Amino acid sequence: MLLDRDVAEIAAMAGGVRPETRAFIDGEYRSGTLEQTFPTENPATGDIVAKVVFCTGEDVDAAVRSARTAFEDGRWSRRSPRERGRVLLRFAELIDEHREELALLETLDTGKPIRDALTGDIAKSAEMTRWYAEAADKMYGETAPTRADVLAVVRREPLGVIGCVTPWNFPLYQAAYKLGPVLATGNSLVLKPAEQTPLTTVRIAALAAEAGLPPGVLNVVPGDGPTTGAALGRHPDVDCLAFTGSTSTARRFLAYSAESNAKKVCVEAGGKSPHIVFPDAGDLDAVAEAAIWGIFYNQGQVCSAGSRLFVHRRIIDDLLPLIVERARALRVGDPLDPHTQMGALISAEHKQRVLRYIERGHAEGARLLTGGHEPLAGTGGHFLAPTVFDRVGNDMTIAQEEIFGPVLSVLAFDDVDEVVRLANDTVYGLGAGVWSRDIDLALHVAGRLRAGQVWVNNYDAGDWTVPWGGFKQSGTARDKSLHALDEYTASKATWIQTRPPALRPV
Ligand code: NAD
Repeated sequence: MLLDRDVAEIAAMAGGVRPETRAFIDGEYRSGTLEQTFPTENPATGDIVAKVVFCTGEDVDAAVRSARTAFEDGRWSRRSPRERGRVLLRFAELIDEHREELALLETLDTGKPIRDALTGDIAKSAEMTRWYAEAADKMYGETAPTRADVLAVVRREPLGVIGCVTPWNFPLYQAAYKLGPVLATGNSLVLKPAEQTPLTTVRIAALAAEAGLPPGVLNVVPGDGPTTGAALGRHPDVDCLAFTGSTSTARRFLAYSAESNAKKVCVEAGGKSPHIVFPDAGDLDAVAEAAIWGIFYNQGQVCSAGSRLFVHRRIIDDLLPLIVERARALRVGDPLDPHTQMGALISAEHKQRVLRYIERGHAEGARLLTGGHEPLAGTGGHFLAPTVFDRVGNDMTIAQEEIFGPVLSVLAFDDVDEVVRLANDTVYGLGAGVWSRDIDLALHVAGRLRAGQVWVNNYDAGDWTVPWGGFKQSGTARDKSLHALDEYTASKATWIQTRPPALRPV
């Protein structure tokens, strides 16, 4: 078991990993037309892990053509759902069999702790793919309540070619959110991973082929946003663009669609999620633990991070010390060390952005309780200490903008209407948490929060059996669950006119 080894052994294993760096188009790895590359960096050291093929508009064209041909000739789209399920099941098994290699790649590329990469990102990617494999032949159509001489059958049909653009915080897992439902429903896809973290997505293309996915059905085009992502977003032969990333980029994809072929755009975007603690929350140690992981997991680079902690004034002095103590005790360190709890932020640029927010917090009058500094200086890595501010006003920059780093803002409140108003006072609506032992109060507040998922007496629970998505500028689509299958299919109604038997010669 990888996690039973010590850091030196794991580092040696990581040193032995040889990443695939080419695009995957029409069933084979290829260099880009211009033979350009871009570097991906190890955020824990600043070293270059690999130089990856940079796909231009021409490469995107080739990938879309390949996906279109595969879709139209039915090599996947017209296979029986059961056969598609079998291939996806094998794909899930292969992800599982290669979990250690994939976890090492993910940690090298993202700076996240190897424990999280292995038991979180990769394990969940395999599990979710398995779940959609099993769902492939369990989608039923409808017959409509028409008049008696007509039979109207409603089937769900694949949309065609899906472009998928994913972020860097959970690279393979975010790709898996798309791959399962897109492929289970018979579509073809062109997938562009984030330029910071392309390695696992590039790698699994070969695993999909090994599982029996026909050429052209899954294409992977590494590259940046303005060139590669935009080419996919604007492509006239892409039927649907499934995007996960920041709200500002999501808006661009909506514009690309408007400027090109009015393709469907499925958006999963940013968040500034409220986490509300009422005085009857009960076990404050459990609340503190949830608050800590709600903000510091994945170095705070989580779309649904509980970044605004609203605490009732009556218990704030009891809860804050528990949170600060835990934040200080978190082990920030080498992501390849299985004991590390927080690794490095994705890049030096991103760390500077988070540090600027910390400065703004100071300048606007919030009180820094812990963190704000850069540990492990000299490693070349982009480390940042878990940071907690209290005395935050909801109109301060650190309470309004998505920091996407390990910075918790604590806000005090006095009553229910006030906290609901403040919690909803943001352009986002992704997650929200409510702690109260009074189930009536908890459900009342959950009902009034404008968020795609509300956690009661926990934070961030969930799996692929429930839909995932946002309200307001956090998103328009639903990932996960059977609802995701609807995103990549359209209903087709077929009207069949029958004649009375008497009119027919027998
Ligand atoms: P980002 O928007 O910068 O990039 C996401 C993807 O879009 C990348 O592949 C990138 O190359 C591409 N892109 C960037 N600019 C582009 C452009 N001009 N044209 C076309 N494509 C472009 O986001 P990020 O920094 O990679 O990820 C962090 C963001 O993702 C956060 O806002 C986070 O909340 C969000 N996120 C949301 C969810 C969710 O489920 N709602 C999940 C994970 C991350």
